[in-house]
Amino acid sequence: MVREIRDLSAQVAVETGQSALDKQVLEAMETVRRHEFVPKFQRHAAYKNRPLPIGAGQTISQPFIVALMTDLLNLQPEHKVLEIGTGSGYQAAVLAKLAKDVYTIEIVDSLSKDAARTFSRLSYTNVYTKIGDGYAGWVEHAPYDAIVVTAAPDHIPAALIEQLKPGGRMVIPVGTLWQELLVVTKNADGTTTSEDVVPVRFVPLTREK
Ligand code: SAH
Repeated sequence: MVREIRDLSAQVAVETGQSALDKQVLEAMETVRRHEFVPKFQRHAAYKNRPLPIGAGQTISQPFIVALMTDLLNLQPEHKVLEIGTGSGYQAAVLAKLAKDVYTIEIVDSLSKDAARTFSRLSYTNVYTKIGDGYAGWVEHAPYDAIVVTAAPDHIPAALIEQLKPGGRMVIPVGTLWQELLVVTKNADGTTTSEDVVPVRFVPLTREK
């Protein structure tokens, strides 16, 4: 799986502006046991570079996309990260290997509870889960060094920009059917700079009624 991720990252080097993914990101991808995050009947496919269904109509993202998004966040060991869209918990587990604390929000109760059980079973002690609408972020723990959004809104949620530290980075797919993966950097004066990376396809960010 990691070999395929390496090959693909070389293929999109022009778009990402980097010839290879960070070594520590690849190490985290080697360490996190993806089969622990997929339903039992999908385990045979856990190390293929594919998204897989996880129930509730949702999917665990393609490993290459998880690696790419993680890489684009430029994480440091002291960082506090917010993830929107816990899903299976796999992306959060990868983040947890590279950052100090990971806060992750999921709108579907059952998925959030299953992921919380997986984190505790596998002794991930620096991942904090919450059930709710990630459109509003998680203000109690803000500001964050990095934010990753793994469901697609049609615009960048203002609350997420507010909850990003100056100098912080947010990686977010924005669009409707297909989306553009954006890296949004918050400048010291509070303005943002946004850069398109690659076209991607995520489930839509749904809103609480
Ligand atoms: N990061 C996940 C994959 C996410 S799939 C993983 O590694 O497995 C996207 C997830 O976002 C789905 O579980 C979906 O239920 C969730 N989601 C959609 N809209 C949301 C919202 N407004 N707030 C929080 N989670 C949301």
